[in-house]
Amino acid sequence: MGQIVLNLSNETIKEMQQVYKNRLKSPPNGAIFSAKTEASTITAYKSGKVLFQGKQPELEANKWGGSSQSNSKAGKKKANTLHAYHPEPRLFTSSHIGSDEAGTGDYFGPITVAAAFVRAEQIPLLKELGVKDSKNLTDSTIQSIATKIVQMNMPYSLVILHNPKYNALQEKGWSQGKMKTMLHHHAIQRLLKKMAPEKPDGILIDQFSEPHVYKNHLKSENQHLTENTYFMTKAESYSIAVAAGSIIARASFVKEMDKLSHKAGIELPKGASNKVDRVAATLIQQNDLAYLHNFAKTHFANTKKAMMLT
Ligand code: MN
Repeated sequence: MGQIVLNLSNETIKEMQQVYKNRLKSPPNGAIFSAKTEASTITAYKSGKVLFQGKQPELEANKWGGSSQSNSKAGKKKANTLHAYHPEPRLFTSSHIGSDEAGTGDYFGPITVAAAFVRAEQIPLLKELGVKDSKNLTDSTIQSIATKIVQMNMPYSLVILHNPKYNALQEKGWSQGKMKTMLHHHAIQRLLKKMAPEKPDGILIDQFSEPHVYKNHLKSENQHLTENTYFMTKAESYSIAVAAGSIIARASFVKEMDKLSHKAGIELPKGASNKVDRVAATLIQQNDLAYLHNFAKTHFANTKKAMMLT
């Protein structure tokens, strides 16, 4: 049993309440809400204090990060609730754009987002190449499929949010959800420009937050949702374009991790496990705490755990 306390903004607590809306339980006195996931019980108080308790409180706390941080990754765990932006099944067999990301739960390394345009007639060939959900593929298979996708001259665009910029945005008050939103948006905009005048039949984003949360993030940066955009969770299992995006994003993440490991002079592990804490501790000992900003998402609880190991 562990416990983590974060101080979060009202806005973030509202976002959390949305994300955990299917897991709410009756809150104790003075609390705004209380929710229970497999990993942790989460209780948010009017003071802005949010308490994470349970087997692995860091799994949930990491999503909401430091001072005023949040992300909506937990939204992925919810059932595929239907909303106005849910696609019609015919989108999956049409010429469409799919967009997905990698690296959001990994302490070390960037966030990568890729949008890919797949023409209807290319779908059978991509299936034959083994394009499917990157979560079910090994890193080496992902890299070889990614190479083949690139060789097909399929229009795609890839954006990488490197750690120094990630940490700067985080300190500025951006939630991970907002970062992901803007990365997907940029990847899609760039791809549309690249493809013009050709237009996709639709755009499908592997859903990481409720569409209205996504739209609010866009609005806060004076952007708006591109027409014909749809959201669904586990989209990579339905759409070969999203699966292609997920493979390109994951292959890029793996490549960036290799580069970072080389730069650090030590193999940086993926994920956010104890192994990650030990490597972070080594980097702090060999350099200093600030050095981690080049390699890690430093608001994750792993930083504090690494410091305790030094
Ligand atoms: Mn995804």
